[in-house]
Amino acid sequence: MNKMDILAVYEDCKNCAACPLSDTRTNTVFGVGALDADIMFVGEGPGENEDLTGEPFVGRAGKLLDHFLGAVGMDRRKNVYICNIVKCRPPQNRDPKPEEEDACMPFLRKQIKIIEPKIIVCLGRIAACRLIDPDYKVTRQHGQFISKGSFLMTATFHPAAILRNPNNRGDCMRDFFAIEAKAKEIGCKL
Ligand code: SF4
Repeated sequence: MNKMDILAVYEDCKNCAACPLSDTRTNTVFGVGALDADIMFVGEGPGENEDLTGEPFVGRAGKLLDHFLGAVGMDRRKNVYICNIVKCRPPQNRDPKPEEEDACMPFLRKQIKIIEPKIIVCLGRIAACRLIDPDYKVTRQHGQFISKGSFLMTATFHPAAILRNPNNRGDCMRDFFAIEAKAKEIGCKL
């Protein structure tokens, strides 16, 4: 797949009705960022602001994510790509159901295939359990890098979780510094 294929995948996603989340969404929230990014961030699913705007990680949690990114020279408009496991908002911001994640994973797989990241960063438990290990414990394992095929994977706290529990803010910032260091070590574009 080449970079331009992303438009076709986006169109498919916009019209997708493969799971019941299509019934309650305002917009699908496909992803945002540079198509040549070497670093991809993956969260669990859109919230209210994301559903209304069609962009992932806007609102307070999104601003916090932008703060962490900015501290290590990363920018959603320039050098990273950001998306979620499910592209439609689960009602009342509940966790996505496993069958909804299953239905939506083909979109993420295509995004990964097109963008070809060198590092994938899971934001929070849901993404880490889906993409790294079903038993992943963010509080214990955050910041560790795991090799998966052609890329490295790691996880850190979801910014919404930091808003709920600011005690983890320092650990999260350290994870971002570690991501920056690893990105430089393996020659990612920053
Ligand atoms: Fe389709 Fe994913 Fe939205 Fe479900 S969450 S309707 S699979 S785009």
